[in-house]
Amino acid sequence: MGSSGFQLFEFLVSFGYCFARIERRKIDLMKSLVCISKVPDTTTKVTFTDNNTKFNEENVQYIVNPYDEWYSLVRALELKEAKGEGTVTVVNVGPADNEQTIRKALAIGADDAVRIDAQPTDGYYTAAQIAAHAKDKGYDLVWAGSESIDYNGFEVGGMLAELLGLPYVQNATSIDYDGSSATLVRNIEGGQETLSVHSPFVLSTQKGMAEARIPNMRGIMQAKKKPLEVISPVEAENLTEITKFEHPPEKGEVKMIDPENVEELVDLLQNEAKVL
Ligand SMILES: Cc1cc2nc3c(=O)[nH]c(=O)nc-3n(C[C@H](O)[C@H](O)[C@H](O)COP(=O)(O)OP(=O)(O)OC[C@H]3O[C@@H](n4cnc5c(N)ncnc54)[C@H](O)[C@@H]3O)c2cc1C
Repeated sequence: MGSSGFQLFEFLVSFGYCFARIERRKIDLMKSLVCISKVPDTTTKVTFTDNNTKFNEENVQYIVNPYDEWYSLVRALELKEAKGEGTVTVVNVGPADNEQTIRKALAIGADDAVRIDAQPTDGYYTAAQIAAHAKDKGYDLVWAGSESIDYNGFEVGGMLAELLGLPYVQNATSIDYDGSSATLVRNIEGGQETLSVHSPFVLSTQKGMAEARIPNMRGIMQAKKKPLEVISPVEAENLTEITKFEHPPEKGEVKMIDPENVEELVDLLQNEAKVL
């Protein structure tokens, strides 16, 4: 090979090497999708409308579901920060007025957001919307909270994993991730379980995963400019319908019983409280 032929060969080798590096970086980039639900502030006085079939939203302050904010989002950000690269996208299924809540997640540190423009009315419907968005985006980790603190379904994470055909780890209290496989801990009856799983996978998170982060002023200002994509919902069924809400029964009056009067105590526990 002449010298110009050799130079051309060297150029092609180095070009190929650079290209391979770019491809490799693209593959290595850790992508998290964090599902966030908008829920009433925990101090909300819950009332119902429409013959007790709908939650009354009047004067309700909303927050990001604490499981999604404190555990999923913060831990996803910690993993990204430890790796020094990657993206954290938040997704919400909900109407336009959810965007205030979504911006809070961006202020905490998510890179961008997707709002699927639909009124969520059922866990399956919600999971189907998120799955339709996530299926071809190459997310390594898909995070859900164990439950939302309003409808408490405990269902979206599992349904999402099934719809995406991915492994699911429920109620995780910690996660370490090396870029291709993860070690997770979850609480089980009377103890803890440690397991490993290869990405991509879906996890739902519990207390213990991370500590809450308060967004700072810089985060709040940046959040206003971060991308928030609004996409249309796909066709999906509601598999369940709420037919009635009820408040728990009012607490009865406290009865004081003489400590010497064990007979009366037993009688009340048997015949009034019916717990014996
Ligand atoms: C304004 C409003 C009206 C509603 N009306 C009805 C109604 O009429 N009938 C009814 O059955 N339900 C209604 N819902 C509830 C809605 O259907 C639930 O959000 C959905 O069924 C999920 O169930 P869950 O909240 O029990 O989720 P869970 O399974 O307990 O949630 C687990 C996790 O799933 C993710 N997740 C849940 N919801 C969303 C979401 N919307 N977007 C992104 N991630 C999410 C979060 O990570 C959450 O931590 C309403 C919700 C809202 C906000």
